[in-house]
Amino acid sequence: MTTNPWLVPVTTLRRSLGNRRQETRSGRIGELRVADSRVPEDREVQAEVTLCSVDGGIEVAAGIDAPWVGECRRCLRPVGGVLRCEVRELYRPRGPGEPPDQDEETYPLSGEMLDLRPLVRDAILLELPIAPLCREGCAGLCPTCGADLNDGPCTCPPAGGDPRWAGLDVLRDPSPGVPEEGAGPPAGADPGPTA
Ligand SMILES: [Zn+2]
Ligand SMILES: [Zn+2]
Repeated sequence: MTTNPWLVPVTTLRRSLGNRRQETRSGRIGELRVADSRVPEDREVQAEVTLCSVDGGIEVAAGIDAPWVGECRRCLRPVGGVLRCEVRELYRPRGPGEPPDQDEETYPLSGEMLDLRPLVRDAILLELPIAPLCREGCAGLCPTCGADLNDGPCTCPPAGGDPRWAGLDVLRDPSPGVPEEGAGPPAGADPGPTA
């Protein structure tokens, strides 16, 4: 038997203003993705929810924990963890024939059940890191050889065009095309026969 964990019955709640109900719900929410960060489809999301009957609908406050995975934007190593989101939104009953709510930031309320799913999905989408780092100060990859500089420096010459390295280039190669003095055979290289 499968039940939708994101549906909450609200008939009793709506009988009088100020009624409150607390719920903890967990289950799959479908894959969510922002850039390379995502909540995998097969992982469970948990939400602690407080519903309150207010003038104009039901106010829903939720603390959401969602497992996510992604890629460090500098070194491309896998990153991830549990994303914590806090939201407070209004579910508003919609009259018969009333068009979907375009301007207001509310969710539709119809019938006996309130559907937490769109609220949970929207909250996670807003919080998923677009460009995560594996750690503060990740050294990233060498743009030339692709080595992970977190494992130590590579042997590539400094990248051209970076003004910080211009002075070093001059020191490294003082006079391109001209043989350096003393480049011939070292004195005494051929001692010759010496009895
Ligand atoms: Zn990294
Ligand atoms: Zn390199």
